[in-house]
Amino acid sequence: MGTSGGSRIVSDRYHCQLGRIHVTGSIVLFGPPGAGKGTQAGRISELTGKPQVSTGDMLRSAVAKGTDLGHEAKTFMEAGLLVPDSIIIGLISERLTNDDAANGVLFDGFPRTIPQAEALAEIVSVEAVISIEVPDESIVERIVGRRMDPETGEIYHIHFKPPPEDISARVVQRKDDTEDTVRSRLAAYHEQTAPLAKWYSEQGLLIRIDGNRPIEDVGNSIASML
Ligand code: AMP
Repeated sequence: MGTSGGSRIVSDRYHCQLGRIHVTGSIVLFGPPGAGKGTQAGRISELTGKPQVSTGDMLRSAVAKGTDLGHEAKTFMEAGLLVPDSIIIGLISERLTNDDAANGVLFDGFPRTIPQAEALAEIVSVEAVISIEVPDESIVERIVGRRMDPETGEIYHIHFKPPPEDISARVVQRKDDTEDTVRSRLAAYHEQTAPLAKWYSEQGLLIRIDGNRPIEDVGNSIASML
C-alpha cells in the first residue's frame, strides 16, 4: 500500500520545520491492537506527566470532523489496513509542535512501521518502548467485546469490564472492532508492526510486559518498570 516510499523525504522535511524544537524523553506503548495500550496509557501518563499521543484517536477525530485527512484515512481504517506513513508522520510532526510535548510524550499506537520509527528517531529521543504482549487468540475476543463510553472515552468490555448499568445504554462499538476487521488488523500488525520489536530491542529500548493478565496486574508491572 506504498507505506514506505518517500517517508524519509517527508520526515526530513518535517525535521527542518521542527528544527528549533527539542522533544526529549518520549515513551512508546507498543503491541497488537487490543493489547490494552489505550487502557494503560492513562495511568502511565499520570505517572510520568507525559501526554498520551494516540494516532488512532487523532485519525478517528479527523474522520469525525470530515477533514481531508480524515477522508483519506477512513478507507484504510475501515479495511483494517495501516494508514500510509506520509499521513501519519505529518500528523505526528504537527502534534509534537504543541508546548505539552516539550518534555516527551507517551506514544500509543505509533510508530507502527520501521519507516515511522526512523522518522520519529529524527525528531525525538525515545527513552523506552513498553511492549504489551498478548497472544492472537485473546485479541479477537478482547476487541470484539470492546465498547467505549462516548461521553468519557472510558473503555469497557462486555465480559471482562462491563460498563455500569447507568451508562450501558450509551456505550458504542468502534466501527473497526468487528471480527473480520480485527483479523485484517492483526495481519497488518504481524507483517508491518511486529518487526519493530526487534528493531527497538537491538537498541536496548524494549521492555516486554505480559499483557495476558488482569488490567491492574499489567498496570502494576509497567509502573514498576518506570
Ligand atoms: P488504533 O486505535 O491505534 O487501533 O488505530 C486504529 C486504526 O487507525 C488502525 O487500524 C490504522 O488503520 C490506523 N492507524 C492508527 N495509528 C496508525 C499508525 N501509526 N500507522 C498507520 N495506521 C495507523
